Amino acid sequence: MDICSARGCQLPAQWELRWNNPKLHIPERRKVWLACEEHRTSLSDFLTARGFLREVEPHPAET
Ligand SMILES: [Zn+2]
Repeated sequence: MDICSARGCQLPAQWELRWNNPKLHIPERRKVWLACEEHRTSLSDFLTARGFLREVEPHPAET
């Protein structure tokens, strides 16, 4: 099971926050943070404040 990227969080990931730092990455590059429902907002706010957030997608459940 994939785990939320927030520090210390052990909850299963439900969202993918796909981001890009234009100072470090080519525009097509995407870094991915995984987030549980609880941390989706705080992690996406962090990325949005820096202008890094590109897409938020549901993280596929394991089959
Ligand atoms: Zn979390």
